Amino acid sequence: MGYRSFILPILFLTVIILSLGVSSAVTLDSAGSMGVQFLDKNVHGNVMKNPAIKKYLSDTPFNQKMVSKLKQGSLVYRLGNGKGKTILICGGIHGNEPQGPLAVIKFMNYLKNKKINGTVYIIPFAIPVDTEKNSRNYVRSSKHYDPNREFNIAGTPPNKILKFALAHKVDYIIDVHAGTEVNSTGLVYFQKDSEKKWAAYIQKKTGAIAKTNPQKGTFRSEASKKGIRAITMEVDKKFNIGKTSDKESKMLIYACVYLHLIN
Ligand SMILES: [Zn+2]
Repeated sequence: MGYRSFILPILFLTVIILSLGVSSAVTLDSAGSMGVQFLDKNVHGNVMKNPAIKKYLSDTPFNQKMVSKLKQGSLVYRLGNGKGKTILICGGIHGNEPQGPLAVIKFMNYLKNKKINGTVYIIPFAIPVDTEKNSRNYVRSSKHYDPNREFNIAGTPPNKILKFALAHKVDYIIDVHAGTEVNSTGLVYFQKDSEKKWAAYIQKKTGAIAKTNPQKGTFRSEASKKGIRAITMEVDKKFNIGKTSDKESKMLIYACVYLHLIN
């Protein structure tokens, strides 16, 4: 066999291996590397069509890349050293609550210079197509569903997120929302006594009011039934989105400090 006859296959293989590596890992600005993968290609969308995302999402190369990938499906990022607790943070279950994804992305940016003890999976936009339409409900077979009442229904986009959490042995879930009548304090909903101290810590640090609020089909309730400790965060939709998403990113920071994911 001549030199040329095997150099080409080797080059070809090298290109394949390099391209696989590039597609499964991106860099968060100047920080260390993180993993990213598609979670659900059925819910792809152009989140920049949501006026609040267009207005408030900072125009960084990292965000541009994220927005471009979301046109093919929802994304889950993975950060951390793989030791200790495993946490899942999710924004955008309701597409008309842009505060959630904006808070989650601000939190990701905060993490870039932090030492992370454990693993954190981050889904900035759970259902990009609903963020694109600024819609609370998800349309399936021409019917409208509230995705945060369908975590228990197999095959739905929210159920796929719960299955991801179970498959990846997630210990804690933080579901990030916005609502009405939340007030300027913000809210943290918990399910059981096991989550109460966690919620109380966030209340102490940020003023967000901790409350219990069991509700069938929500991410928090269905995860809790499966033994994952889960909380839901809310900020009020009536205030400035830039400010409330800042507030909610601080709530995320203290939620993760309590879990010793960061100091
Ligand atoms: Zn919501």
